[in-house]
Amino acid sequence: MATEPGSAPAQDQRSVLVLNSGSSSLKYQLVDVDSEQVLARGSVERIGESGSAASHTAGEQTTRSDDRVSSHGDALAILMEAFDRHGPDLDETGLVAIGHRVVHGGGHSEPQVVTEDVLEEIEALQVLAPLHNRAAAMGIRAAQAIRPDVPHVAVFDTAFFAGLPAEAATYALDREVAARHRLRRYGFHGTSHAWVSRQAAELVERPYEQLKQVVLHLGNGASASAVDGGRPVDTSMGLTPLEGLVMGTRSGDLDPAVVLTLARAGASTDEIDRLLNQRSGLLGLSGVNDFRELQQRVDAGDADARLALDVYVHRLVKYVGAYHALLGGTDLLVFTAGVGENNPALRAAVAKRLEPLGFVLDESANTAGRVVGGRVVSTPDSPVTIAVVPTNEELAIARQAVDLVG
Ligand code: AMP
Repeated sequence: MATEPGSAPAQDQRSVLVLNSGSSSLKYQLVDVDSEQVLARGSVERIGESGSAASHTAGEQTTRSDDRVSSHGDALAILMEAFDRHGPDLDETGLVAIGHRVVHGGGHSEPQVVTEDVLEEIEALQVLAPLHNRAAAMGIRAAQAIRPDVPHVAVFDTAFFAGLPAEAATYALDREVAARHRLRRYGFHGTSHAWVSRQAAELVERPYEQLKQVVLHLGNGASASAVDGGRPVDTSMGLTPLEGLVMGTRSGDLDPAVVLTLARAGASTDEIDRLLNQRSGLLGLSGVNDFRELQQRVDAGDADARLALDVYVHRLVKYVGAYHALLGGTDLLVFTAGVGENNPALRAAVAKRLEPLGFVLDESANTAGRVVGGRVVSTPDSPVTIAVVPTNEELAIARQAVDLVG
């Protein structure tokens, strides 16, 4: 149960406000880092566009507004006003830091307290993550202006993968060109992969340091990682979050010559960017990017949706098989995020193809309702344990922020 607005703060309560600034949205959660309760959550959507909408939920109460929001600064002001008017009072919850999700952190392997230098670095990385890092920097500047009294911590999506072995991080490109443009594989969704792999080890009650895991983060964005004893060995996203698995609107892996062919046919860089990031993946193949709608179309006999699902599963099986080989065998396969946590049919389709490699799903465990805390879904004698573990990037960010600021 979340705390009711206006209720007295528990003594020594410590909270972190986690902000996730997208190009046209700002999502937030106020997290009690000790009890793991979400004290409040909300979002401001369509910033700078018509039809802005804000919502704020504290306890049982949700309030909404549809005032026009023209900037991230405006969005932050609306958020702070929502806390003032509807609670909880940020200071009474023991606000110790504001944690910012930042997609691209370059070579940073740890969260950073935001200084002007760190902010400039985040902005400089816009070249590699134009939409994401520009928005994160705007969100941080706006939040610093409104709450200069608390430390702001940047938690990078790339951090967990900063230690990727060179052979996994390196593109086989001309070395000087790659160095000049910082072209390497960075990996994304790292906060989720780190959190989920650790939670999974706890779930199966085995030492994290001894487990070989393949983690599948399957949401609207999707990525896979191979984690050996807590260290990433490989991951599917690369220079940007475009590489790898088939996603809601992103193509994932392609022959780079697809880009050259389109460019030679007259498409501009921005057009190709939009095609690959926003109009491809499940959406490009079937007309819908939401997995529930895709599943409905498959069930109704839609051939395009069927092919989209087959391509999605094919790519997943290929990645798990490759990571199984890289790891020299897998102890634990973990599904997480919107699709991974909530779609037993997808888990079954992947596991069925992997059964010859020792991934044996338990049908009844797999379909036994919503997964709340995490659940093993393989048979007791399956050589590889298969688990579903909910991700919680906000709590992970809050914890890291608190660890950093003490
Ligand atoms: P995420 O990006 O993690 O929020 O995941 C979004 C994806 O998860 C969408 O494709 C949704 O269709 C899918 N998803 C979310 N909730 C459910 C659910 N209860 N059942 C099936 N799919 C879901």
